[in-house]
Amino acid sequence: MNSWREQARKLSIDGRAFINGKRVAARTVFDCVSPRDGRVLCQVTRGDARDINDAVAAARQSFNRGVWSQMSPRARKDVLIAFAGLMRSNAQELALLESLDMGKPVAYSQKIDLGSAAHCIRWYGEAIDKCYDEIAPTPANSLAMITREPMGVVGAIVPWNYPMLMASWKIAPALAMGNSVVLKPSEKSPLSALRLAELAMEAGLPEGVLNVVPGFGDEAGSALALHMDVDCIGFTGSTRVGKMIIQYAGQSNLKRAYTELGGKSPFIIFEDADIERATESCVGSIFFNQGESCNAPSRLLVQRKHYDAVLARAAELAKDYQPADPLDDATVMGALVDKGQLDTVMRYIESGKKQGAALVCGGEAVTINGAGFFVQPTIFGGVRPEMTIACEEIFGPVLSVIPFDTPADAIALANDSSYGLAASVWTQNIDLAHQSARALRAGTIHVNCYDEDDITVPFGGYKQSGNGRDKSLHALEKYSELKTTWIKLQDMKKS
Ligand code: NAD
Repeated sequence: MNSWREQARKLSIDGRAFINGKRVAARTVFDCVSPRDGRVLCQVTRGDARDINDAVAAARQSFNRGVWSQMSPRARKDVLIAFAGLMRSNAQELALLESLDMGKPVAYSQKIDLGSAAHCIRWYGEAIDKCYDEIAPTPANSLAMITREPMGVVGAIVPWNYPMLMASWKIAPALAMGNSVVLKPSEKSPLSALRLAELAMEAGLPEGVLNVVPGFGDEAGSALALHMDVDCIGFTGSTRVGKMIIQYAGQSNLKRAYTELGGKSPFIIFEDADIERATESCVGSIFFNQGESCNAPSRLLVQRKHYDAVLARAAELAKDYQPADPLDDATVMGALVDKGQLDTVMRYIESGKKQGAALVCGGEAVTINGAGFFVQPTIFGGVRPEMTIACEEIFGPVLSVIPFDTPADAIALANDSSYGLAASVWTQNIDLAHQSARALRAGTIHVNCYDEDDITVPFGGYKQSGNGRDKSLHALEKYSELKTTWIKLQDMKKS
């Protein structure tokens, strides 16, 4: 008997919202369905404006009481480190919730998602009592202090592809700064966020400081982004909704609105590159997380000399990424998040075929044990840059391979996108690597690697990939106000 399946059977799941330090009864609910087998896991609160009002009021009261916002940074650090510790000691339960809810392989949920999320919470905890403010270089008769203060109530709205990690990227810096938070997880993956709120309380976070309201975007999400008593929204999701979030901020109280949005990231293999390593890296990265990664390298640009060889090798390597049960430890590709996403991905595959791209491998939806929403790893060759599959974010396991002739062509192709989240360049030529990195319009450039990073560096996009940055000390800037205090000093001779 597979121990994950056994644990899944015994799992007791609570889908109620977490407001002011406790679970609260739902007014209405929706079914939380597992993409692994289409089974209803539990019922979840369908939060609406009333729940958001309650959560924002609890957050505001906790902020004004100063139970967290006025706590010393060192004491906040201790709570966040304890919170990260509790995440680790409940790793199996959190990983299982994540995997059942969203379809990703449970082994990855535990090692990668949970590991990175706990590290993120701990990192901001450790950082916060090492951050100093500034004194400006004023004339001698003045003292001007530049200080950072928590903003107040931060709303966080996150997507379903890395539910725990995206929530952590928002709540860790926001909480570390002393804010109170209302988190709205995706309706497609609300379970781990709800459990995180309980663990945060257990770690010593005062009631009302972290509230989680599950629900739909146009109900709970819009109510939060439009709320007059929310000071800042940290949003991660699609470009379509990101544009709405910025409008909501303008329509309401001009709250700060930070958006981390979609991508169509180019992966460029120049002719002098280590072709085998580059191809392995691209295939591993596009099929990781079922292709449901904002920074997935979904456009593979190959210098013409190696184009056929890379295409053939990529198809060979794709065989290692066949979908399987997310609860098997050996699985590397799980289920897409739901039937809607499966249909979207299949529509893109059909459009690729119709517009004349060559299907090199995959292209079919499959079931595992007769159920679930799975898609084969899919590669298209002969892709022209104007084809829909080369322009739009598919958010599934689909790779478009495009040839180019010169480095200048590669950069022009790579930048010819409304997105600018990430890019990768493969070459042994240091000049070409640096020049390409400078010329590419994207928030993260990888050289001879892909998705190598950690919490110490910012993550976010140029252009329509968003206006914010998660991770690193820079994320603390998003969740704080900058204050100048100018003090006129009396001449000592006069006092
Ligand atoms: P989405 O935009 O549909 O939803 C994201 C969140 O917004 C969800 O919680 C949803 O309920 C909420 N929402 C939807 N409509 C809303 C509205 N009208 N008002 C307020 N909230 C609303 O995105 P998704 O399908 O959940 O996630 C996939 C997208 O997220 C992809 O485009 C992906 O590239 C992007 N993403 C970006 C990053 C990044 O860091 N840049 C990371 C992960 C995912």
